[in-house]
Amino acid sequence: MIDFVPDPNSPYLIDECKIRGNAERVVIPDDESELSSVVKEANRTGTNITISGLRTGLCGGSVPLGGILVSMERFSSMIGIGKDGEGYFLRVQPCVTIDEIVRSVQLKRIEGFSDITPNACSEFRSDKRKFFYPVDPTEMRGSIGGNISANASGARTFKYGPTRNWVKSLRVMLADGNIIRIERGEHISNGRHFDVTIDDVHLEFDIPNYDFNRSVKNATGLYCHEDMDLIDLIIGSEGILGIIVEADLRLTEWHPLISNIIFMPDDQSAISLIDDLRHDTIVEPEFIEYFDKGSVDLIRRTCLTDPTILRPPGYECSAVFMDMSMDNDVESRFERLFELVRKNGGDPGRSWTGYDQNDRKRMFAFRHSVPKSIFDYVASLKDGIPAINKMGTDMSVPEEHNLEMMSFYDSILKEHGLEYVIFGHMGNCHPHVEIILKDMEDLTKAKEAYGILAQRAFEFGGSPSAEHGIGKLKRDYIRMVYGTEGISEIRNVKSAFDPNNILNRGNIVE
Ligand SMILES: Cc1cc2nc3c(=O)[nH]c(=O)nc-3n(C[C@H](O)[C@H](O)[C@H](O)COP(=O)(O)OP(=O)(O)OC[C@H]3O[C@@H](n4cnc5c(N)ncnc54)[C@H](O)[C@@H]3O)c2cc1C
Repeated sequence: MIDFVPDPNSPYLIDECKIRGNAERVVIPDDESELSSVVKEANRTGTNITISGLRTGLCGGSVPLGGILVSMERFSSMIGIGKDGEGYFLRVQPCVTIDEIVRSVQLKRIEGFSDITPNACSEFRSDKRKFFYPVDPTEMRGSIGGNISANASGARTFKYGPTRNWVKSLRVMLADGNIIRIERGEHISNGRHFDVTIDDVHLEFDIPNYDFNRSVKNATGLYCHEDMDLIDLIIGSEGILGIIVEADLRLTEWHPLISNIIFMPDDQSAISLIDDLRHDTIVEPEFIEYFDKGSVDLIRRTCLTDPTILRPPGYECSAVFMDMSMDNDVESRFERLFELVRKNGGDPGRSWTGYDQNDRKRMFAFRHSVPKSIFDYVASLKDGIPAINKMGTDMSVPEEHNLEMMSFYDSILKEHGLEYVIFGHMGNCHPHVEIILKDMEDLTKAKEAYGILAQRAFEFGGSPSAEHGIGKLKRDYIRMVYGTEGISEIRNVKSAFDPNNILNRGNIVE
């Protein structure tokens, strides 16, 4: 186990939202018994433990506020493959990256994996079909533990749902150092009351009474509903209830896909193309991503320093990125797609198509270059302006309010004199608005604008945080959505799991 006093500039004290914390110690346990002894000691002394995955989070969830920062980086093994009535599943430790999961499963690189059920590895290897893990956050270098804690999602959530839908079981270390295995389907609440005994651990508590909005993408606060599965309470709980030490993930059958980036004349035509595509039963997009004109311009500028990124066309344009299945009748899908592009004022000739793995990889890198260049830009500001942090929205709204919300983003940000780009998961009415800050004055204006936008998203029946979670940065929105009553109900759940309030203090609630 590594145990040291961190330098104030240590990378362990910051995540990708660029707020910096402090810790008395950084501890990197090698295994569960070392982790358990650290947790037991912290529980005895009432010391705050902040759990860190790979710190790509965007709301300060793994940024410590004093106490001990426990990095899970050595829990990074792929364990094995199993098979049950619902198909294959993959068993992993929490600090395996999404990229590693995707590559191992798709390429069937499973040397050294164990059989979780008899002969599962050899069956998986010799199965003629290909499989994949479908959750694809833009940041593939985050850990699965971080993804489960935030219920991360990605472009493909449009078709496959968020991380929650793919978690079969979890092993979770509680604040007293004991580990419980939670298997989906085995521990269901009676209405809003849990009374369960798992591996000799007894848990009895009420879940919050608030309505967790399940009609939009939502990562705001503890997930709950009547007669719920205990595993779903842990997923998305941002590490305040326990430490994930192992996860079983469902896999699904892969099918060949064709990627398309369509350049539309302006933002309006791109958005109305997306509206037409969203429920189209011929094209049946696997995901739909949006880039406004400003985002395309940003990629053009990024190409100057990174020639590996595909260069957008020279003319002014916005863009729509989508995948289609190549399983059947690709011709009809294309005919219909081109018809919709023309209907919305576009030219099908102004598009890129790729089905080869390398071409598709480059198209995804094109998509990734927008957030990446914003993060690099904010990191470059940090030297001169240490207190600055990234300001990107993560709000979703119901489909019927998407257009109003899009105009609201424009009017509020312009009113505040801020520069911004809008891109992302428009298929789920969940674009990201990245505010391009220049100085602290911009940060103050951006914080004010952010509050106004979050309030409006909430009034429209949406969520102020659709996929990144609340962490420490967005706690005000918990109050906005659930009120003081909701906050105290969340605290009650936490104290049933963590009576001394040692785990991830400051996440979701103070
Ligand atoms: C360029 C970029 C693009 C991104 N795109 C997306 C996207 O498309 N979709 C999306 O959902 N997110 C996205 N993110 C955010 C981020 O990648 C995810 O939130 C991811 O889940 C964080 O994983 P991590 O390992 O970096 O976790 P960390 O940042 O280290 O931690 C995140 C939270 O999880 C908790 N945690 C970590 N490990 C454990 C564990 N083992 N047990 C309990 N709690 C734990 C931490 O305490 C913290 O609260 C993006 C980030 C970047 C930088």
